[in-house]
Amino acid sequence: MAETRMLSFIHVEQDYPQKRKAKARAQDFDEISQTYLLAKAEEQASRCSQCGVPFCQVHCPLQNHIPDWLKLAAEGRLQEAYQLSNATSNMPEICGRICPQDRLCEGNCVIEQSGHGSVTIGSIEKYITDTAWKEGWVEPLLPVADRSGQSVGIIGAGPAGLSAAEQLRVRGYEVHVYDRHDRAGGLLTYGIPGFKLEKPVVMRRVERLEAGGIHFHMNVEVGTDLSFAALRERHDAVLIATGVYKARAAGVAGSGLKGVVPALSYLIASNRKGFGDAVPDYDSGVLNAAGRHVVVVGGGDTAMDCVRTAVRQGAASVTCMYRRDRANMPGSQREVANAGEEGVAFRWLAAPLAFEGAAVGDEAGQVRSVRAVAMRLGAADASGRRAPEPEPGSDFTLPADLVVNALGFDPEDLVDDWEAGELAVTRWGTVRTDPRTLATNLPGVFAAGDIVRGASLVVWAIREGRDVADAMHAWLKARVSGDKVRSDEKLRGERKAA
Ligand SMILES: Cc1cc2nc3c(=O)[nH]c(=O)nc-3n(C[C@H](O)[C@H](O)[C@H](O)COP(=O)(O)OP(=O)(O)OC[C@H]3O[C@@H](n4cnc5c(N)ncnc54)[C@H](O)[C@@H]3O)c2cc1C
Ligand code: SF4
Repeated sequence: MAETRMLSFIHVEQDYPQKRKAKARAQDFDEISQTYLLAKAEEQASRCSQCGVPFCQVHCPLQNHIPDWLKLAAEGRLQEAYQLSNATSNMPEICGRICPQDRLCEGNCVIEQSGHGSVTIGSIEKYITDTAWKEGWVEPLLPVADRSGQSVGIIGAGPAGLSAAEQLRVRGYEVHVYDRHDRAGGLLTYGIPGFKLEKPVVMRRVERLEAGGIHFHMNVEVGTDLSFAALRERHDAVLIATGVYKARAAGVAGSGLKGVVPALSYLIASNRKGFGDAVPDYDSGVLNAAGRHVVVVGGGDTAMDCVRTAVRQGAASVTCMYRRDRANMPGSQREVANAGEEGVAFRWLAAPLAFEGAAVGDEAGQVRSVRAVAMRLGAADASGRRAPEPEPGSDFTLPADLVVNALGFDPEDLVDDWEAGELAVTRWGTVRTDPRTLATNLPGVFAAGDIVRGASLVVWAIREGRDVADAMHAWLKARVSGDKVRSDEKLRGERKAA
């Protein structure tokens, strides 16, 4: 075995993979980070101090065995590192790319706390699994048993649905995934732009699931093309993993003007274009920032994805307007820094008052500017967060011929849309589940991912997909034995009668 070479953080500096130069990366939708070379990945992994209480792992929603696979990687045992990392995550290379590590594993890394700069966990995780794909170590999905007498219907092919599908298929169930889009992946495919997550990385995961016998029913919207009741009839158990898609509105005058668009429509159009699809609203300019003055309203990761997409589409100017300051924004600081490098202007502590357009002439109804007001942070509200309030007399106007609303998402109204009056939901519209089993109040119906937690993270969707698969497996197993007991009793009764 190679000599252990950990704890090198004392003399080896933190070194992330290089980012492509801002000017070059703003020309395309390719990922911005270059990849480690083997020696660099080993060197960076060796910085880990193998903590007795590894806070990186504690703060990972998947409880990934981070120190263990870092040690294996440092020793050059990459295939074993991959196997260990793969044991707790269905998509390690995707998490390595898009998890907000600065708030999770890396933000809590002990050597970060001691001022040495965290281990570059996400970049090493990505390197390990990308290598596994390249070297052919990623094995086909093989069921370990035959439980095909029972079938599961999963609504939603996002990370929650796909992770649950994999875990259930491995156990041998017949698994059917339904999605209203034409491609699987959920927000991995159509929300998150290629410069954070290149699409072939998502598609190879989907292809592996398909090859493993999972049935995908694309372009099927439950509630429209197939009723929820029919789906329940068709399958022994059902998983709701539909995510959250109802865009929050800015609620200001002029929201109906042409050129005021919701973030997700804008991002979906851009991602579709990247796949080479025909996108008439992109070609007509409705969902294309080329040559436009763009204002994106919001301060989360979705807003960052929109501003950076607009830069790549060749916008004349791109401004992000957020009502709190930089320290209090919900989006990742890394993404803000990337956006700043790419030329995005930020108007912190500012909120729109109205979107304004020409009233008459050829341009009537088209947005031309955003009237906004400066904000200040007032007293803390019930959540402890300081509430923004307008600075009197501080109105200003920004030119804008494309306004993208990125103010967050709420759940769609599943109860009405699916005529599922009996399905229990919370007051926010998320599906109410038993926190231990993710079971809903309907027998055999479970839920996971954003539709349970509200808008969250990919890593949490994967975690819940895995947890719910365990609970569904237990439920399905109990049902088989229950049926068997009943049929045995029935048989005994028939014998007695004879
Ligand atoms: C723009 C954007 C950027 C993001 N960036 C990051 C990031 O960098 N890192 C991170 O960790 N998280 C990020 N997130 C959050 C992350 O994408 C989500 O938390 C995660 O995708 C949730 O997974 P899910 O499986 O629950 O739902 P989703 O990924 O939303 O998948 C749900 C699927 O259900 C389908 N569906 C919905 N209703 C129906 C129906 N009635 N019938 C059939 N199918 C249906 C949808 O088409 C979709 O494919 C981002 C989110 C957005 C919007
Ligand atoms: S907290 Fe940091 S140093 Fe400690 S085990 Fe995790 S990665 Fe290694």
